Amino acid sequence: MTKYVYDFSEGGKDQKDLLGGKGANLAEMSNLGLPVPPGFTISTEACRAYLGVSTGSTAAAGSTTGEMPDGLGEEIAEHLDALEKAMGKRLGDPEDPLLVSVRSGAKFSMPGMMETVLNVGLNDKSVHGLAAKAEGDERFAFDSYRRLLQMFGTTVLGIEASLFHDALDDLKDRRGAANDVDLGVDDFRELVATYKDLIKEHTGRDFPQDPREQLDLAIRAVFDSWNTERALLYRRQERIPNDLGTAVNIVAMVFGNCGADSGTGVAFTRDPASGAQGIYGDYLQNAQGEDVVAGIRNTVPLADLERIDKASYDELLGIMQTLEEHYRDLCDIEFTIERGKLWMLQTRVGKRTAEAAFRIACQLVDQGLIDMDEAVRRVNGNQLAQLMFPRFDTDADRTLIATGMNASPGAAVGKAVFDSTTAVEWAGRGEDVILVRRETNPEDLKGMVSAKGVLTSRGGKTSHAAVVARGMGRTCVCGADALDVDVHAKQFTASDGTVVKEGDVISIDGTTGEVFAGEVPVMDSLVVRYFEGDEPAASDELVASVARIMEHADSARRLAVRANADNVEDAARARRFGAQGIGLCRTEHMFLGDRRELIENLIVADDVEGRQAALRELLPMQRTDFVGILKAMDGLPVTIRLIDPPLHEFLPDFTDLSVAVALEDEKGNKDTKHHKLLAAVQRLHEQNPMLGLRGVRLGIVIPGLFAMQARAILEAAGERIKAGGDPRPEIMIPLVATVQELELVRADIQRVAAEVEKETGVELRFKLGTMIELPRAAVAADEIATAADFFSFGTNDLTQMTWGFSRDDVESSFFTTYLDKGVFGVSPFESLDIDGVGQLVRLAAEKGRATRPDLHLGVCGEHGGDPDSIHFFDEIGLDYVSCSPFRVPVARLEAGRSAAETVSDSA
Ligand code: PEP
Ligand code: MG
Repeated sequence: MTKYVYDFSEGGKDQKDLLGGKGANLAEMSNLGLPVPPGFTISTEACRAYLGVSTGSTAAAGSTTGEMPDGLGEEIAEHLDALEKAMGKRLGDPEDPLLVSVRSGAKFSMPGMMETVLNVGLNDKSVHGLAAKAEGDERFAFDSYRRLLQMFGTTVLGIEASLFHDALDDLKDRRGAANDVDLGVDDFRELVATYKDLIKEHTGRDFPQDPREQLDLAIRAVFDSWNTERALLYRRQERIPNDLGTAVNIVAMVFGNCGADSGTGVAFTRDPASGAQGIYGDYLQNAQGEDVVAGIRNTVPLADLERIDKASYDELLGIMQTLEEHYRDLCDIEFTIERGKLWMLQTRVGKRTAEAAFRIACQLVDQGLIDMDEAVRRVNGNQLAQLMFPRFDTDADRTLIATGMNASPGAAVGKAVFDSTTAVEWAGRGEDVILVRRETNPEDLKGMVSAKGVLTSRGGKTSHAAVVARGMGRTCVCGADALDVDVHAKQFTASDGTVVKEGDVISIDGTTGEVFAGEVPVMDSLVVRYFEGDEPAASDELVASVARIMEHADSARRLAVRANADNVEDAARARRFGAQGIGLCRTEHMFLGDRRELIENLIVADDVEGRQAALRELLPMQRTDFVGILKAMDGLPVTIRLIDPPLHEFLPDFTDLSVAVALEDEKGNKDTKHHKLLAAVQRLHEQNPMLGLRGVRLGIVIPGLFAMQARAILEAAGERIKAGGDPRPEIMIPLVATVQELELVRADIQRVAAEVEKETGVELRFKLGTMIELPRAAVAADEIATAADFFSFGTNDLTQMTWGFSRDDVESSFFTTYLDKGVFGVSPFESLDIDGVGQLVRLAAEKGRATRPDLHLGVCGEHGGDPDSIHFFDEIGLDYVSCSPFRVPVARLEAGRSAAETVSDSA
């Protein structure tokens, strides 16, 4: 029989798969001897059984059996019994009730996704027992009961949360109370009655009085919450698989709402926004945990706890240090003080901004807690990419209207919107929006995803808005309490009287917490300036941390990084960003603008002479292009791909041209070239151009085209050699399916090379290779390798051809449905489909190297800049990845991380 339930004493921090993050860390803290209330964890395996998914399967999003697995009920009863014995109380006992919290905890924390129910075990009778045991404190008992009704009502019974909030606000209005703490016992009694009525009205049944039934329903609700729309959306965003499931933690309640000597708080062992060491966190006296995270009442800074309760404060600081040294990382903590006794309710390695991640990693190295390999593993390419975002220009004219907390860095400009639906709608039509709320709750997730930035007037750095925005790398300013936000009127008023209405542009700085009216100009990030070679930028502490980590990543990595670039500026930038050559120069990009006409001439030429004349005109232009790029990449390899797309892409649109020709004819201005063009458009029309006359097929069918390009490359190389340069051209043939194609083209290019050598008197050295973009090419790679010096995997086409997905159409047509239904967790065009396309790459690499052990292997599809894909390419022994210039630092870092991971795996 599978074991589904584990006591805290049975687990540890490395068991997140089984116990979820929260459960594993509660177990770890218990075993460290820290003050954790006793409890147990229902495993993720139980949840998976409930959902009907097995590990490793690509679970359909939203699947469930709705049935508790066999034996789970009995196991819970056994552990509950042990908990009751340990606490000396029984769940919901009318005289002296044991109360428990039921909290979800998946392997990856999903802020606001999964749910919590506190005070399970309270009912109409045990509320009196609770009061009696709390020295007759009925206010506390009824406050606890109304919280249970509220959380149970919303999370377990699915009643709209606002109904409970409105009832509370209404009561406060009637009593003239500004805060919950101003309410008395009779108020809470009344609230309990109101909430019970709400539950009856909306569910048709009374709130369950049986404590075990409450517990079972709450557990089921946690399992079900794995499949809420919000959870699905978050997992899709964060690429968290649907088959993990969540654990459920059942913990004996401790109370922060017992009076002034009680309270609850959250703390970080260092600042999660900047990485600076210090005392960071929020504390709320006389409150239960949810009040802090929800940002409902304004908290005090954690440092104030020293004044409020010095003994608990000192103990907490000691525990924070223990945790940081034990976890060797920034930890975040939830704690409660019950009548002067400190309890740890949660810890985990804390989320942090990209900036903090780099700084903290270096600080921990300096403190001797981790080594540089570990520091490289502690950051990632997405965080580096975030640091490369622009910032506001501080010298520009700016109208500061408020300053809040710098919750998640970045510079965001957009139109103010006051609800998630509008945010989604406006962003959908291409507008930049800033979502402005008093505070956010999980319902706002969609809006936050769509917005460029999030601004709230309430809540601290640990409020929902802050935590979620940081997690998704969205700019966020929170707790700008000088702003009076009126979401109903869709406007906010600043303290200077400025009114910002829906649609007005604002700018928010998540690094400083500043809010500006209007649009503030943005400028490059310091990190980008450093990559660009700007010396002063290097003295900045963040830049220094990035530089240190990049240096180590570069020294550790095996995989080289090249750039996809087809002009001199991009090539030069890529080189400054650390590219070790060009992995893909798409020559068709050189045929746009004025040169398009020359290609048209080539296409409409109806004899050899006409075609050659067109090619002769293109040749010097191409040569100049290549001279520039080879110069920018002097001494480094430059892979130049011969023309790939179908030629009709260079011709005018059929309908536009037909209309123009008809009009010209009607006016008696017949234009022969236009007629020829129209005929060519008709002749070259293809039903499936991606599967048609493109790539190497063009080179074989259109005489002289590839030869002209090869000549331009080789003449350019000759020119560079004569000028004292060190050009390293690599000529690459696209869309090859069989070795015969490559052999035909190869012979032609070798003939051209011999001619150019003879004409110029320069000995030319170049490589000639092929892209692997077709499944056939991958399977026949051993043969193809006989005619290739290198392979470059064109994973865009390889994905398209393997799945049969038109890369131009499917993402906007049915991918959302595929993602929703869990066919895959992320678009295979974004991150390599390792099980399918990846296996073709692996096969081709093995077969190619079996023929030619020195075969050089690279990737130049979009996946060359994608972190997960890079790790795979490294694992299967490719030589380099190639990506857009801006992704080059990201790829360098990820290649370094991949190498550093191998170090740790073999250690
Ligand atoms: C590819 O197919 O992966 C590739 C790099 O070529 P393109 O994107 O130009 O088709
Ligand atoms: Mg391609």
